[in-house]
Amino acid sequence: MARVINFNAGPAALPLGALERAQKELLDIEGSGMSVMEHSHRGKVYEAVHNEAIALVKELMNVSDDYDILLLQGGASQQFAVVPMNLLAQGKSSDYVMTGAWSQKAYKEAKVLGTARVAGTTEKDKKFSRIPKQSELELDPNAAYVHITSNNTIFGTQFQEFPDTGTVPLIADMSSDIAWRPIDVSKFGLIYAGAQKNLGPSGLVVVIVRKDLVEAGRKDIPVIFQYRTHVENNSLYNTPPTFSVYMLRNVLSEVKANGGLSAMEKLNREKAGLLYEAIDARSDVFACPVDKDSRSFMNVVFTLKTPELETEFLAEAKKLKMEGLKGHRSVGGMRASIYNAVPREGVATLADLIKKFKA
Ligand SMILES: *Cc1c(COP(=O)(O)O)cnc(C)c1O
Repeated sequence: MARVINFNAGPAALPLGALERAQKELLDIEGSGMSVMEHSHRGKVYEAVHNEAIALVKELMNVSDDYDILLLQGGASQQFAVVPMNLLAQGKSSDYVMTGAWSQKAYKEAKVLGTARVAGTTEKDKKFSRIPKQSELELDPNAAYVHITSNNTIFGTQFQEFPDTGTVPLIADMSSDIAWRPIDVSKFGLIYAGAQKNLGPSGLVVVIVRKDLVEAGRKDIPVIFQYRTHVENNSLYNTPPTFSVYMLRNVLSEVKANGGLSAMEKLNREKAGLLYEAIDARSDVFACPVDKDSRSFMNVVFTLKTPELETEFLAEAKKLKMEGLKGHRSVGGMRASIYNAVPREGVATLADLIKKFKA
């Protein structure tokens, strides 16, 4: 089998076991004589998959009964708009912490719908190469919510500690670092994540939302965009992306079988450690533009001294079957996305290449 070492930023690597299970079940799931894609979303077979996927999110992330878990469509980008549609009540203001391109897009949607303030930014001083400290945030105590991007997929920065927002609900776009480690969900009012980085294929966005926020949500918006609609219908109001939900189930079953989120954290810390150590050790050629205490455990961003060296490095990586190392088109350089499903051995191969490259 010719599987490559996949460092794609999203859609990204999936656990081999999750793919193999899909292969095995593709033509006939649970002896039903059909693929999961051919089942009615109201039938027993799909319903079991759907509920298992939700139960796995709840169990692995230790989500309390105070929250609802929704499986929706439109990606994280749609949630940029749906969050303020539901939660930015008339006359209220919302706070956005700006740490990169995704926060900017989220903020833009909130401004279309109502009042949004920048409560902190690291754009001006260092081109988003760090996460602002709590002391740098100017939080409005009366805000409807505070929005953060927990991991900045493009810039390679990540909140190591979440801001304290007091009684104001904290909302996080966790698209690129959900489930990388255990977190205290009770610190958040709402968490959303496009599935295609750490949870499964594209076409699906997971939303974890506190029940009181669902209840308090606005009713003067289209029914399809109200969180309560999807809560009341167990995310089956409209036809869900059944195969994506099925793959979410497969991916999370793998995560559970491999020890859950504590095991993921240990593995992810090791993987990121290998890369950052190699980059720092080879400062003659390589550099990481991110402040040490803001470095992401999911997207390791680095540069080489010249464009020629970068081209050469990519060619060497390609020979070793590595894919997806080119940085985002807006920032250039290199980026290794090392989500849960990227095996340690693949990351070790990259670290090795960095250590030996032109040494
Ligand atoms: C990928 C990504 C998005 C966009 O997700 P879509 O599902 O394409 O809308 C948003 N936020 C972050 C942090 C991301 O990494």
